[in-house]
Amino acid sequence: MGWPPRAASCGGGAGGVVGAQPWPAAGSRELEDAFYAHQVLALRAQRLTAAQFVAFARRFGRSMTIGICCEDLPEESNTITLDPKLTDSNGIAAPKITYRISENSERMLRHGLARGTEAMQAAGARDIYSEGPVRQTGWHLLGTARMGEDPERSVVNGWGRSHDVKNLFIIDGSVFVTSAGVNPTPTIQAVALYIADAMKQRLANLFD
Ligand SMILES: Cc1cc2nc3c(=O)[nH]c(=O)nc-3n(C[C@H](O)[C@H](O)[C@H](O)COP(=O)(O)OP(=O)(O)OC[C@H]3O[C@@H](n4cnc5c(N)ncnc54)[C@H](O)[C@@H]3O)c2cc1C
Repeated sequence: MGWPPRAASCGGGAGGVVGAQPWPAAGSRELEDAFYAHQVLALRAQRLTAAQFVAFARRFGRSMTIGICCEDLPEESNTITLDPKLTDSNGIAAPKITYRISENSERMLRHGLARGTEAMQAAGARDIYSEGPVRQTGWHLLGTARMGEDPERSVVNGWGRSHDVKNLFIIDGSVFVTSAGVNPTPTIQAVALYIADAMKQRLANLFD
């Protein structure tokens, strides 16, 4: 396993992978077929050496992956701020993401990787490997305009209106105060419906 984390990642979750490759028997027709079917493709695309190709052919189509997604606690030390130096092409400050995997998240990942390994063993896998955290994965962008009653600690109030600009409503994933390890879109939609209802109820004095 790749512990301790090799590098910081970003976002509200972290992942790990457990893979297994039950190999076809050496000299079997199955292995031979796999070898020739993928030889040209693999050698052209990947420029593999012969030894690498044999390893590839043994695994191709005969492996599976278990992904581990965990939910970070809302750690105060994980932040998104404005980068003091980096800007986009319009000169607007770029976001600066500060993130480290907490002890709690690390323990959850270790637990998930161990259970994944057990599942592979139970399935009869011959070659099991694991890796975590997976740096090259996706991260959901949430929480940059948090919802809350305290203007010092949040951007919008409890029904989506900006604390500072009374006719500005923010209705998207940025109002989240925490983020789950799983996909956020249904929750974003639910929050949008909730804020729309709140606005409708306040139409007479929406900007007061
Ligand atoms: C590859 C990929 C796969 C994903 N798969 C899933 C999935 O399977 N399930 C799931 O739940 N979530 C998934 N997500 C996450 C999900 O798409 C996002 O969390 C969600 O779309 C965020 O919604 P949002 O309204 O907060 O922001 P966005 O959908 O990003 O909307 C922001 C909008 O603001 C506009 N905008 C930006 N700047 C300005 C500006 N200055 N002026 C005017 N408009 C501006 C943008 O053009 C955009 O239309 C995926 C994300 C990616 C990238």
